[in-house]
Amino acid sequence: MPWIDKDGCVGCGICVEECPVDAISMENGKAEMEMGKCIHCGTCHEVCPQEAVRHDGEKIPDEVKVNVKRTKEFMSACVKYLGDSKEGLKCLNRMTKYFNKQKTVAEKTLEELEKLKSDSK
Ligand code: SF4
Ligand code: SF4
Repeated sequence: MPWIDKDGCVGCGICVEECPVDAISMENGKAEMEMGKCIHCGTCHEVCPQEAVRHDGEKIPDEVKVNVKRTKEFMSACVKYLGDSKEGLKCLNRMTKYFNKQKTVAEKTLEELEKLKSDSK
C-alpha cells in the first residue's frame, strides 16, 4: 500500500491530477490518500517529484515495534486482570499463534498470487 510522507509532500497536486481513480485529494496543503479507492497502480509513486509517495515495506520496522508493544500490553493486562503471573506467558503463546496464523495467511496468499502470475503470462 502506498502512503504519503507528509514531511516530504510539498502540495504540488501532481499526484491528485494523475491518480486515475481520484483516490488522492489535498488536505491542508498535503496529499491525502483514500485507500478504499486505491487500485495500487503505482502512478503516484512515479509522478511525485519529491519522492513523498513511499512504499509500504518502509513501515515494516515500525509495524513490528507496534506489534511487540501491543503484545507486552496484552501480557501485562492478562496478569493484572486474571491475577496470576503465569497468564503472561499464556498470553504470549496466544499472540505467537496469532502472528503465525497471519504469516500462514500471507504465505498461502503469495502462493496463490504466484499462480496468478503464471496464468497471466
Ligand atoms: S506529487 Fe508528491 S509532493 Fe506533489 S502533492 Fe503528491 S505527494 Fe505531495
Ligand atoms: S497507487 Fe494509483 S490508484 Fe492508488 S493512490 Fe496512487 S495513483 Fe491513485
